[in-house]
Amino acid sequence: MKVIELKDLNKSYGKEPNVVKAIDNINLEIEKGFTAIVGPSGCGKTTLMQLIGGLRQPDSGKVLIEGTDISFFRKDDKALFRRRNIGFVFREYNLLTELNVYENIIFTLELDGRDVDREYIYQIAYLLKLDDKMDMLPVALSNGERQKVAIARALATKPKVILADEPTGSLDSKASLEVAGLLKMTCREFNQTAILITHDMEIADNAERVIYLRDGKVQKISERRKQI
Ligand code: ADP
Ligand code: ADP
Repeated sequence: MKVIELKDLNKSYGKEPNVVKAIDNINLEIEKGFTAIVGPSGCGKTTLMQLIGGLRQPDSGKVLIEGTDISFFRKDDKALFRRRNIGFVFREYNLLTELNVYENIIFTLELDGRDVDREYIYQIAYLLKLDDKMDMLPVALSNGERQKVAIARALATKPKVILADEPTGSLDSKASLEVAGLLKMTCREFNQTAILITHDMEIADNAERVIYLRDGKVQKISERRKQI
């Protein structure tokens, strides 16, 4: 099932004569499951993620999430759609230092005045091996654990899509592989779509398919062997 559709998508930065074409007429369908987007620095990965997540407006073209065209949404509607449907994970964990792990995980839900499904939150925490750390403050955690809290927070809203931009960028290789493996596992467990942006092929190897981006274009897509 295609979850994300990009149609004739374009995004440039700057003015003539210094225009940088970050996304160059991309047409792409992303299926349910775990997809990695890889490519060298500057190839447009972050811009693509920002366009898919509605954090940036394309110059032209469409972004459809489960058939809903978000490119026409007004700012407020887009923000609401984003909070309801998309979970973000960034390189920086952006945790609130005064709140414990549990409070950080439910923060977005509380902000939106949404009900907290405690059982589901504890299920996420268990899967991410955070269940015995719920009372701890971020300062007491390792970087890998902090990123797991950020993933739990993204999952807490039950999003259709998880967008993770270089989530392992500040982690050592052991923690990086663990975090990528956990994204793969939660994606399967909750029957979700996750997009992982990375420049690290070993991390991308966790995905079911890898999209190679170069100079703002899709260079190739490789499907991985389905793992059972
Ligand atoms: P990646 O994530 O693959 O490194 P980016 O999407 O960050 O790629 O950037 C793609 C290109 O667009 C790069 O040449 C980058 O310098 C440029 N770019 C990105 N964001 C901006 C911006 N806000 N203003 C100007 N140029 C930008
Ligand atoms: P990444 O590490 O994901 O490639 P970048 O370092 O390219 O990220 O970009 C980090 C942020 O800075 C992004 O929000 C991007 O839009 C912005 N940015 C990147 N390149 C430029 C640029 N040349 N001018 C202004 N902003 C930029």
